[in-house]
Amino acid sequence: MMKSRPLRLRFLPFALVLSGFAVQAQPAPKVTTPKEALGFDIGDDYQVANYTQLVAWWQKLASLSDRMKLVDMGPTAEGRRQYMAIVSSPENIRNLDRYKEISRKLALAEGVAEPEARDLAREGKAVVWIDGGLHASESVGSQQLMEQVYQMVSRSDPETMRLLNDTIQLYVPANPDGLELIANWYMRGSEDPAAALLEPSRRSMSGLPRLYAKYIGHDDNRDFYMSNMPETTNMNRQMFLEWFPQIVYNHHQTGPAGAVIFIPPFRDPFNYNLDPLVPLGIEMVGTAMHSRLVAEGRGGSAMRTGSTYSTWWNGGLRTVTYFHNMIGILTEIIGEPTPTRIPLVADKQLPKSDWPLPIAPQEWHYRQSIDYEMSNNRAILDLASRYRETFLFNFWRMGMNSIERGSRDSWTVTPKRIAALEAAAATAGGRANGGRVAVEPAAGGRGPNLPAEFYQSVLHDPRLRDPRVYIVPSDQPDFPRATEFINALLKNGITVHQAPAAFAVAGKNYPAGSYVVKTAQAFRPHILDMFEPQDHPNDFQYPGGPPIPPYDITGWTLALQMGVQFDRILEDVPGRFTRIGGLLPAPPAAVSGAATPAGYLISHQINNSFKLVNWLLKAGCEVYWLKKDTAGQGPGAIWTPASAAARSIVERAAKELGTPVQALAAPPGGDALKLKPIRIGLYDSYGGSMPSGWTRWLFEQYDFPFERVWPSTLDAGDLRSKFDVLVFTDGAIRRGPATGRGAGRGAAEPANVPAQYRAWAGRISDEKTIPQLQKFVQSGGSIVTIGSSTSIAEVFGIPVKNYLIEKGPDGRERPLPREKFYVPGSLLRVNVDNTNPLAYGMPSQLDVFFDNSPVFRLEPNAASKRTSPVAWFSGTNVLDSGWAWGQQYLDGGTAVAEAGVGEGKIILLGPEVNFRDQPHATYKLLFNGLYYGSAKPAALP
Ligand SMILES: [Zn+2]
Repeated sequence: MMKSRPLRLRFLPFALVLSGFAVQAQPAPKVTTPKEALGFDIGDDYQVANYTQLVAWWQKLASLSDRMKLVDMGPTAEGRRQYMAIVSSPENIRNLDRYKEISRKLALAEGVAEPEARDLAREGKAVVWIDGGLHASESVGSQQLMEQVYQMVSRSDPETMRLLNDTIQLYVPANPDGLELIANWYMRGSEDPAAALLEPSRRSMSGLPRLYAKYIGHDDNRDFYMSNMPETTNMNRQMFLEWFPQIVYNHHQTGPAGAVIFIPPFRDPFNYNLDPLVPLGIEMVGTAMHSRLVAEGRGGSAMRTGSTYSTWWNGGLRTVTYFHNMIGILTEIIGEPTPTRIPLVADKQLPKSDWPLPIAPQEWHYRQSIDYEMSNNRAILDLASRYRETFLFNFWRMGMNSIERGSRDSWTVTPKRIAALEAAAATAGGRANGGRVAVEPAAGGRGPNLPAEFYQSVLHDPRLRDPRVYIVPSDQPDFPRATEFINALLKNGITVHQAPAAFAVAGKNYPAGSYVVKTAQAFRPHILDMFEPQDHPNDFQYPGGPPIPPYDITGWTLALQMGVQFDRILEDVPGRFTRIGGLLPAPPAAVSGAATPAGYLISHQINNSFKLVNWLLKAGCEVYWLKKDTAGQGPGAIWTPASAAARSIVERAAKELGTPVQALAAPPGGDALKLKPIRIGLYDSYGGSMPSGWTRWLFEQYDFPFERVWPSTLDAGDLRSKFDVLVFTDGAIRRGPATGRGAGRGAAEPANVPAQYRAWAGRISDEKTIPQLQKFVQSGGSIVTIGSSTSIAEVFGIPVKNYLIEKGPDGRERPLPREKFYVPGSLLRVNVDNTNPLAYGMPSQLDVFFDNSPVFRLEPNAASKRTSPVAWFSGTNVLDSGWAWGQQYLDGGTAVAEAGVGEGKIILLGPEVNFRDQPHATYKLLFNGLYYGSAKPAALP
């Protein structure tokens, strides 16, 4: 039933609505109620509170209640402040510093022996993190957070009092900007009922004009090991440097069809780097949540195969916690402010271990979802209260396990090692038994029993020990980039040291300033995960059948994605190293060489050099890329003639960006490309494209001058007078076989869109848009395409075809089926022609992020049509991290190509070279591509 309610109330000041509020029957603290704060109750149909309302209410609650403290976590991308509410008993609130210290000591375990750990566990309080609204349009999350805090500060029943006494509760609105956007969007018109655009019953969350996180939308849950965004950094700081919660509950919303909510345990694959107490803790907490719901008669909870979530991937708010020995819980619930329906799904009506209590199909109201979430929050807090000492002690146990594993010889068993074990047994059996494997019959296990000595000789091969130390040398080609990698580790609470002086390990010298990452620390699983390849199991529905898609990607090794050079050291590295305190600035470099120079030589290998180039061009300085190898820097070294402006810019860059600059007495001479200041158009679409958003953020980091373009911008034509280069990221253009993952929705009809967003609407069309793009390129513009957008090659007659094809039963070519070729997000090795300007500054081999990305076959006439391969796959074993089923099909395929068309250029980047702004190693393909098309040949004296 829907009650009518005064819509104006939510915008009235508190004072006007404070009177007439009925006191509850039991004695309870008098605090501001939802009705007083918002004008409605949380979970009322057709009502969503925004972030401004949340903050106003929480500030009020914090001032009225001695159970609550509000903490400013830091800024958001749109410049709001992100707050966290700490809720506990008044006594605990007075002693927060002590409980924080206990949590930190147990988390890091360093120097804490078992008796002290037991004492600390006895004294400490369980720290539980509960967030909401990370994916803002999943609005149950943010609204339940407000209700939960309100209940915890306003109730005095025995359970609430026990939870307050035993736990410290951290309540985190995970995406303030997004909450403001979606709530205002849903409620639009409601502040003026007379002129309301929408009747309450017509309100809808759909059709959001832009992403609900400024740059990255839904990918705000893909940023946690990298920590590019301010909100991620805020939350990582609270989790891994400040509070060290033992349990992290991350609320989401997409309930399985025919059910209400997915709650862990998760399906396999399980990440082998995790301490086994993590998945066991997840089982325990998840089971407590299901049990509470079922005991309350709330059906429709599902687990394991009830959805697609696993513990394989790192990088989400929930999953990054596993690599820090925390119990991360994700739930996915149904529910909208506009009532919905639970459908009848036959499968979900038969009780089984993965959905124990089926639920009847029915109309579903928002408040029901809120009530489920109250039960879930309480189930976690209840378990944290009852098992407080165990959770705290096990937290120390996991940290100490990591320290112990990093202090002695240890091995990580991965699917490849199991394959090696089976191969060794087969070979041994073959030798002994004329081809048959001689093994003992299985005793209860699945496989046959293998000769026990292989446990030592194969699984514990001394050469395959886990590293005890990783060294990141300071004399690598792009040390500022390596420093950014170290910052990602530091944001994740990893301890890193730096060498104050040169040192040597096993005969190899490392210069001062090198970074030293020892694995004997509590968060060792995260360190291994950032440096080592992910070895994803082959995961199929049945042998020979279709692959089971991973929950997210399968391989992400950050050190490889960033192209960081490092050494694995299998022994401890004694020596005096300095522990790094805060985040690192770029290591300062210098302008060296001639006192009265003709100009300055800058490395093309350093990503920050592009920022320097952008500064130089903006100041009107000339910039050249030198064709021949100059001063040992390989082809493409950057040259800018001397001037007062150039001098001050290169000096600033050396200091701030860490780009060493060599002043030369005479110009280097020879052929060069002269860069032109460029005007970049970055394509985006209504609703927002995440790949475009990531690229926008990246362009801002490197000071590229750009503006966003929409279908209407392109259709208006005259593009050549406005832009030098247009960029289409993955998903912007899709022709031919589908590749990659999704992008912007992009297709809103202008008539359905509010006036201020109408210019964003529309889509790229063959009739209107493509002819304008053709005109643009013919007259000298260039187009850079990534992922699926490379399919634009077709309309420009570029002689490339899909490489990943086979002959079907009808004799016609068709794309390879998934049973044969499947690479769902992995790092693959390519060869690179770094004499092509598109690949200047890159090594001849490196890893690219490949997500079922396009691979090209160049037609025999490619050269005559000015089309060249720039990066290609070679060999049948190109997988460096993740899962690449059928990788042999890649051998000989082209990953990156460039083509001259008319006066202009088209650049085809098949792999996602800036996927989630992590693969710094391949940024140059994009950055070079921006300048390459409009650069003109020049000869230097
Ligand atoms: Zn979500």
